[in-house]
Amino acid sequence: MSNNNLPVIAIDGPAGAGKSTIAKELAERLNIPYLDTGAMYRALTYWALQHQVEIDDPEGLRDLYKEIVMDVRFAQGKQEIYIDETDVTPYLRLKDVSELVSPLSAHPFIRELMVKKQREIAARNGIVLDGRDIGTVVLPDAPMKIFLTASLEERTRRRHLDFINLGISMDFEQLKEEIAARDLRDSTREIAPLEQAKDACLVDTTNLNIEEVVDLIIALLKQKNLLPEGNCL
Ligand code: C5P
Repeated sequence: MSNNNLPVIAIDGPAGAGKSTIAKELAERLNIPYLDTGAMYRALTYWALQHQVEIDDPEGLRDLYKEIVMDVRFAQGKQEIYIDETDVTPYLRLKDVSELVSPLSAHPFIRELMVKKQREIAARNGIVLDGRDIGTVVLPDAPMKIFLTASLEERTRRRHLDFINLGISMDFEQLKEEIAARDLRDSTREIAPLEQAKDACLVDTTNLNIEEVVDLIIALLKQKNLLPEGNCL
């Protein structure tokens, strides 16, 4: 079988497994867009915080989101999220947002809204998406599914380093507990829990660097004949 289309690639996994770094790198190598679906849930969380709507108040949230327009834009390879013309991208990694995004994203109506939007964005030739439920719920027919993971210690180390690079001091053990708590919440929620799709390839990145992981995924794409003919990446 040969093809001339670029594939839709679904990457799922727990926090800090390297999903966004790998997805970004892979999308660049393949010259296709990358959709960070976690950022969409973070944007809604930020909006709720800004409007003082409690995360455990589904009716309040429903009212808040009824009128908004979320616009996901790709500017020079970078994803930006606008809500009603406000660029919320700079606020998505705030501590409050990180703490509350998991309970917010467990509301069924919110998942429904986001999954619909993610499918619309993915309805194109060639895109990388990362999240928790891409291979299982959003795009169950994606031809390439990767489940990225790494040990909790290593995932914490990476997140810790991100904070250090941002000039934010953070207690390692506390961060580790927060990551473990978020993973537990994400993987035990009733709707679209974090889990490996049956047909996903498990990639443990604990002892691999970014280039090794991207090379591995490209090798898998080649193996499955998912790169356009003549593409010698
Ligand atoms: O990937 P990121 O860490 O930015 O995701 C933040 C949170 O958004 C996750 O912990 C999870 O609760 C939620 N999420 C989700 N489904 C996705 C992507 C993210 O529920 N597809």
